Amino acid sequence: MARLKKVLIVGGGTAGWLAACYLAKAVNARDPQGVQVHLVESPDIGLLGVGEATFPSIRGTLAAIGLDERRFLVGATATYKQGIHYRHWVRPPGTPGADHFFHPFNAPSQRPGGPELLPYWLLGAAPEGMPFADAVSMQTALVDHGRGPKRFKDPDYQGPMNHAFHFDAACFARVLAEHGQEALGVKRHVATVERTELDEHGAIARVVTRELGELTADLYVDCTGLRGLLIGNVMQSPFKSRADVLFADRAVAMQVPYEKADTPIPSYTISTAQEAGWIWDIGLQKRRGVGYVYSSRHTSDERAEQVFRGYLGAAAEGLKAMHIKFETGYRPEHWRRNCVAVGLAGGFVEPLESTGIALIELATYLLTHLLPSDTDEMERAARHFNEMMIARYDRIIDFIKMHYCLSQRRDSAFWIDNTDAASIPATLQDKLAQWKHRPPHRLDFISDLEMFLVSSWQYVLYGMEFKTDISAMRSAYPRMEEARQEFRNIQLAASQALQDLPDHRALVERMCQEYRERAGRQNAVA
Ligand SMILES: Cc1cc2nc3c(=O)[nH]c(=O)nc-3n(C[C@H](O)[C@H](O)[C@H](O)COP(=O)(O)OP(=O)(O)OC[C@H]3O[C@@H](n4cnc5c(N)ncnc54)[C@H](O)[C@@H]3O)c2cc1C
Repeated sequence: MARLKKVLIVGGGTAGWLAACYLAKAVNARDPQGVQVHLVESPDIGLLGVGEATFPSIRGTLAAIGLDERRFLVGATATYKQGIHYRHWVRPPGTPGADHFFHPFNAPSQRPGGPELLPYWLLGAAPEGMPFADAVSMQTALVDHGRGPKRFKDPDYQGPMNHAFHFDAACFARVLAEHGQEALGVKRHVATVERTELDEHGAIARVVTRELGELTADLYVDCTGLRGLLIGNVMQSPFKSRADVLFADRAVAMQVPYEKADTPIPSYTISTAQEAGWIWDIGLQKRRGVGYVYSSRHTSDERAEQVFRGYLGAAAEGLKAMHIKFETGYRPEHWRRNCVAVGLAGGFVEPLESTGIALIELATYLLTHLLPSDTDEMERAARHFNEMMIARYDRIIDFIKMHYCLSQRRDSAFWIDNTDAASIPATLQDKLAQWKHRPPHRLDFISDLEMFLVSSWQYVLYGMEFKTDISAMRSAYPRMEEARQEFRNIQLAASQALQDLPDHRALVERMCQEYRERAGRQNAVA
């Protein structure tokens, strides 16, 4: 038996620093007798620099590593996110019918003992024409009125509305790096890995850096981004492309300053469908992060930038666009011998619904949970880890594909190809076939393997105007009057919550102000 004593994380982007902080906290790396967590990051190779929208799981992760919420908001220039606002996904601009829908993070309202509202919404108990998300959750009304998800006095990472964050990815990595070193015992090395040497069993024996020579560990975590320096180049773990299902493989992105300092900040990501993909639009404290994700099979880089600049209008004048290439897919063997990939090195699903950082969190929880105290147990841990990651990726890919394949758009080859049954995984086709006759239910999912719970599937399914016909089962739903009252109560509760919750920008600014004042007082004492 050989005790696992040291982990080396290679790469200092979101993946590297989140993994380092979470792991260091979990193994108590500050104890010299415990497992040591080291991170090496290149001074020359930059971060990807996009990855600005997160999933609600981020709150649990940040709380678990003990990062003060106000410090995080200041350091990462973060704002709150309560869901995703979809524009023109169902039909192209200028076509009669709804032009948007909202995917809120709050689950549908469910009073103990009260009726489950979805079947009653399908049977017409909600006010006429009211979209599913608006009928079952007050979150749409709150974000439409510019409210944040919590009050100033709510404890860190808590609040009445479920939420995540938007932030600047480079600033986020920096604040994690400070916290990881100051509070959690992560040891940082600034050096570029140039070479990797294997032992006689094909495991990594050492990495050789330009500046610091050799670094060794019992377990190497590859967080080198799309390069996949260790897991791909050295361990030769193959990449399984899913570009046959999700076509987007390029992005053009820009950081756009606000015109006025008090411009309202939406507490949701705006996703606007385009001829060959979609544009994300995210409000941070001092700027917007905007990008067009598109398929290179369906448009050219030049045309994409033209469409993108058309969307931004005058706001983009004089600004330089960043072009990024990627592919949806993953390495079925994220973990091979003593090397495990976290972040883009392991895989990526195009950014709709912001799964990148959530997958980093998931891989980090799994790694922490499975971390073998005995290095001889590595193979078994790796097998379990890989099975769990594959299951998650495949389910996420089905969920993302659902957004595309339910569209009524046929105005470009991109949408025609996306709705072609040949591009829809059989697992998704099977779900959709069942949901024509009954709504999605919690029992359709193995919750431990899902990133998206049943409520997300329901919000997107009905936001995309999918039709479930349960009229033949009408007699199974005798609580129509009660359900009507529930729908009215949700609207009433929304108007009360509007009094209770602050404006989003005001919330962010006050939280940041409180942190600066506190830090100022501490500095004065010191
Ligand atoms: C277009 C696009 C949009 C995205 N939007 C979102 C989003 O909204 N939400 C979300 O959750 N995710 C999003 N993602 C994913 C997100 O960007 C990544 O999950 C996240 O940035 C993590 O990246 P990373 O840390 O794996 O890699 P990177 O940020 O690329 O970091 C790689 C690190 O490895 C280091 N490195 C590389 N080579 C060496 C070497 N030889 N020696 C030493 N160090 C080295 C670099 O210095 C750097 O520190 C998006 C991705 C793309 C492509």
